[in-house]
Amino acid sequence: MNKALPNNTHHALMELEEAGLIKLLVTQNVDGLHQQAGHRQVIDLHGRLDKVICIQCTAQTERSEFQNRLNQENPHLKHASGETAPDGDADVPDELINNVVVPGCLGCGGILKPDVVFYGGNVPKTRTNQIQQALQEVDALLVVGSSLMVFSAFRFCREAHQNQIPLAIVNQGKTRADQIASLKLEADCNLLMPEVNNRL
Ligand SMILES: [Zn+2]
Repeated sequence: MNKALPNNTHHALMELEEAGLIKLLVTQNVDGLHQQAGHRQVIDLHGRLDKVICIQCTAQTERSEFQNRLNQENPHLKHASGETAPDGDADVPDELINNVVVPGCLGCGGILKPDVVFYGGNVPKTRTNQIQQALQEVDALLVVGSSLMVFSAFRFCREAHQNQIPLAIVNQGKTRADQIASLKLEADCNLLMPEVNNRL
């Protein structure tokens, strides 16, 4: 994920922000690529995989820092081998897992976890409030490249609809909000979004 680069859609959205046409971008991605593309006003709805958070004191640190500590405290893992599945899981012997030293929070010793909302977890209330606040102040809501199957994202479309804020969707395939959208474009956002900018 460290090597991933922003694509046409990330760049096109950043340009729309620069042109003053996007007030706030809410992303379901956890890769930080919108920020890497130069986008300024971004809310990472489901958090960031490049950050680590303490579940006790909520202190946030860099994942790379944690990774260094993890490597330092587990020299035996350096030469460990295992089959890596396409989803990133690795099948390793149990004894390797049992001997892993998991570094804790440097501040309070608490347990650290990736700063992402796991499946079944809740988006922090402050984040939701911020988005709801922004929804009060916009003329429209644009959804780009999401099926909106996750309720945490779909809810804002529903709220926009309830408040008579027009909803436009660019997505290949069905979305959960198709029925309430004012405009639905079945298109590849990597092709369509740069074209939108050209026309503006
Ligand atoms: Zn802590």
